[in-house]
Amino acid sequence: MKKLSFLFLALILFGCVPHQAPKQPAWALAIHGGAGTITKESMTPELEQQYQEKLDEALQAGSEILKNGGTSLDAVCAAINVMEDSPLFNAGKGAVFTAEGINEMDASIMNGENLMAGAVAGVKRIKNPILAARAVMEKSPHVMLMGDGAEKFAQDQGIELVDSSYFFTENRWNSYLKAREKASKENFGTCGAVALDKHGNLAAGTSTGGMTYKMKGRVGDSPIIGAGTYADNNGCAISATGHGEFFIRNVVAFQINALMKYKDLSLDEAARYMIFEVLKPIGGEGGVIALDTLGNISMPFNTAGMYRGTITSDKNAEVKIYGDER
Ligand code: ASP
Repeated sequence: MKKLSFLFLALILFGCVPHQAPKQPAWALAIHGGAGTITKESMTPELEQQYQEKLDEALQAGSEILKNGGTSLDAVCAAINVMEDSPLFNAGKGAVFTAEGINEMDASIMNGENLMAGAVAGVKRIKNPILAARAVMEKSPHVMLMGDGAEKFAQDQGIELVDSSYFFTENRWNSYLKAREKASKENFGTCGAVALDKHGNLAAGTSTGGMTYKMKGRVGDSPIIGAGTYADNNGCAISATGHGEFFIRNVVAFQINALMKYKDLSLDEAARYMIFEVLKPIGGEGGVIALDTLGNISMPFNTAGMYRGTITSDKNAEVKIYGDER
């Protein structure tokens, strides 16, 4: 008996007892619905519930695909489609207005398996811009199409076009009128998703109406590969939200990937570095959702709040809005 317990002790001490490697989720999905001045005081309980329910619906739509062995690209599109179709978010229906009182939307998507990417910019009639971005990636030799050309291409691909009045919402129009008074370009609310599928592939997508009262023709970071969106199986998947000009100048999504890939930072260290050490000191407001092939998720933001949610094969859906819920 003594001998046996000695053997057991030795096994533990010398690490010979087979220890279980930390379990990695088979699949994972993280989403955002925009970052900005989102505080409990600026919210009614009803509106808060609406956001929570819609974010949860987007998580369910994407996770249903991942659970069944579908691709991260399909999951990203499904989750973003739910938010694009909701007037709550600044993408698709509910997109913000330019200074001229029209809706000009941007979107992009990237496949981490092969670094293929697609984007559309300044589109006014595509119901779900993320689907057009995906078609550019999969059905054209290009990475980005803009304006009329993007719309014509989308239509040729059987993607739904709508009259521009479809995008009108009272709420965004009021923000436009307010912004016109003080010429401010606030009001974020972009949506994005990053996913890891059972095949080990990452994907990222972002869709937006841009910033309220932006100049006609202004393009933000969301459709720019490396600024607002990036996915690389050897690094991570990123979707950003915030003041686009800062994300473009600092190539935020690509830099997070590069810090992981070339400098061995963890996902969380890399994402937090860009948001807090690079953007915050220069006034670059916003945040990112980030996911790696081990299923690690990081969602740092330097604004008061960011609509966000996660779901993985090991963890039920979780939705958060404010900063103090970190
Ligand atoms: N990043 C977007 C843009 O600048 C806006 C947002 O995220 O709300 O167009």
